[in-house]
Amino acid sequence: MKYERPDLTETGKEFKNLVAELKTAESFESADEAMIKINNLRNSFDTMRVMAFINYSLDTNNEQFIKEQDYFDNNVPLFADLTNNYFAALTTSIFKNNFIEKYGKQLIAISEMVMKSFSPEIVEQLQKENHLNSEYTKLKASAKIMFDGKERNLQELDPYMESTDRETRKRAFEAYWGFFSDNKEKFDEVYDKLVALRNEMAVKLGFKNFIEMGYARMKRIDYDFEMVKKFRENVKKYLVPLSVKLREKQMKRIGVDKLMAYDLYIQFSKGNAVPKGDPEWIMNNGKIMYKELSGETAEFYDFMMDNDLMDVYSRKGKADMGYCEYISDYRSPYIFANMNGTEDDITVLTHEAGHAFQAYSSRDLEFKEYAEPTMETAEIHSMSMEFLTYPWMNLFFEVDTDKFKFSHLNNAIYFLPYGVLVDEFQHWVYENPKAAPSERNARWSELEKVYLPHLDYGENEFLKGGGRWQKQGHIYEAPFYYIDYCLAQICAFQFWSKAIHKGNGEYKKSLEDYIKLCKAGGSKAFLELVKYANLESPFEESVMKRLVGEIEKYIDSIDDREF
Ligand code: ZN
Repeated sequence: MKYERPDLTETGKEFKNLVAELKTAESFESADEAMIKINNLRNSFDTMRVMAFINYSLDTNNEQFIKEQDYFDNNVPLFADLTNNYFAALTTSIFKNNFIEKYGKQLIAISEMVMKSFSPEIVEQLQKENHLNSEYTKLKASAKIMFDGKERNLQELDPYMESTDRETRKRAFEAYWGFFSDNKEKFDEVYDKLVALRNEMAVKLGFKNFIEMGYARMKRIDYDFEMVKKFRENVKKYLVPLSVKLREKQMKRIGVDKLMAYDLYIQFSKGNAVPKGDPEWIMNNGKIMYKELSGETAEFYDFMMDNDLMDVYSRKGKADMGYCEYISDYRSPYIFANMNGTEDDITVLTHEAGHAFQAYSSRDLEFKEYAEPTMETAEIHSMSMEFLTYPWMNLFFEVDTDKFKFSHLNNAIYFLPYGVLVDEFQHWVYENPKAAPSERNARWSELEKVYLPHLDYGENEFLKGGGRWQKQGHIYEAPFYYIDYCLAQICAFQFWSKAIHKGNGEYKKSLEDYIKLCKAGGSKAFLELVKYANLESPFEESVMKRLVGEIEKYIDSIDDREF
C-alpha cells in the first residue's frame, strides 16, 4: 500500500463536476453512474486519511507522520464540505426514489442526518476540533512513567495493576493516575476548548446545545435521547445491584476486607487468567480458532495474516489505543493494538477481529456508509465475537479457560454501569457548556456514587476529586460514542445466551445470524439490523431483565473459590 498525500484542489474540481453531473442527469442510469464515481473519489481520499492516521498512531513522535496527520486534521472538514454537497444533491435528486429502490432507504436517511450536523460555516471549528483531538492522543502517548527502574507508557503499567501483590498493584495504580494528576491542567485545557467549540458549532447550526448535533453526528436514526435515558435507568435498576453483588464476591475471592479502587483489576487471589504465550503465539493460535469457527472466518483471518494487516505489539511512541480501521481502496481491514500479556490480548483477537470480520464481510457493499456501519451496530460485531469464540478459549488459556470466561462475563457486567455513567456525564457536560473543570469533576463524582457505589479511592485526591474521566478517550475524541458499547453489549449478551449458555444446537443458527449481520454492514438502521439478526431491542426493559437474570444465575452456579 502506497501512501500519497491527496491533492485537494484537483480532487475538489473533479468532485464538483461529478456533483453537477448528478444534479443535471437526465436518466437514473447516468445519475447512478455519477454517484458511484463520487463514492470512488471519497474512498480514495478516505484511504489516504486512514493510512495517515495509522502511520501516526504507530509512531506519534515521527515528524513526517505528524505533518500528514495535521494535513488531514485541516482538510477533512474541507472535504466534508464537498461531501455535504453530494448528500444535498442526492436527497433532492429527482431520482431519489430510484436510489431508494436500488440501495434501500438507509442511504437517504444517513445523508439527511449528515447534512443536519454540517455547514460550511463550521469548517474552521471542525479543523480546530481535529487538532485538539490529536493533541489529546499525543498527551496520553507522551507518558513516560518510571516504574520498577524502567520508563513505561500507560499500557505497560496494566500488568502491574493486575499484580497479585497488593502493594505492587497499589504502587502501579498510583503511578498510573499520578501521570493524569500531574497533567491535569493540560487535560482540562484541551477539554475546555473542545466543549466550547462544540457548543459554538451547535448554536451556529441552530441547535440548542451540542447534544442533538452529537446524536446527528453519530447518525442515530431510529432512537433518541429519551430512549437512551430510559436505557440508563434500566441499567441502574438491573445492572448496578448485580455489579455490587459481584464486587462483594470479588472482595472475598481476593481475600481483602475492603475492596479499594486499586483492587478492582484483579479478579482472583492467584492472579487473573493470562494467555499462555506471547503475541506471536496468540496470533498463530488465532489461525486455528478462526479456521474451525467457519469457512468465512477462516478466509478472513488468512487474508489478515497473509497481508500483514495486524500490528499488535506494544512499542514506545505507539498511541495508547486499540482499533480497527477499514482501508477502502484495498478493501482491507486493519487492526491496531498494544498487547501486554494480560487477558485483554485475547479480546484484541476477538473484539477488534469482530470489527475487521464485518468490514471484510461487507466489502462488496457500494459505499462507505454501508461498508462502515454506525458504532452501536459495529460494536455488536465486535462484542458478540468475544462470546462466539468462547469454545476456543482453551487454545489461549489452557487450564485457566473457565477462569477467563468467568472473569470476562464479570467484566461485561461491571462495564455497563460505567458505560452509562460516561454517557450521562457527557449529556450534563454539553447541557452546561460553561461549567468550570471543578464543576465537571464534581458532577462526575456524583454520578460515580450512583452507578459505581462500591468505589473507594482511598487517599487518592485526584480520583476522589472526580478526575477519572480524563483517561476516557471517547469523552474527548468522540462525544456520545459510549452508549453504543452498552447497547451493543445487550445485543452481544443475546448471542451469549443463545449460542453459549443455552447451547442445545443453537450455536450454529446463532453463528449464521451473526455472519448475516456482518454481511449487511450498515445498510439498515440500528434497530432494523437488530431485528434482521433475530435479536431483540436492547431498549426493551424485559430483554435486559431476562438477560441479567440468566447471567446472574450462571455466575451463581460457578464455584469461584476454585479459581
Ligand atoms: Zn469496538
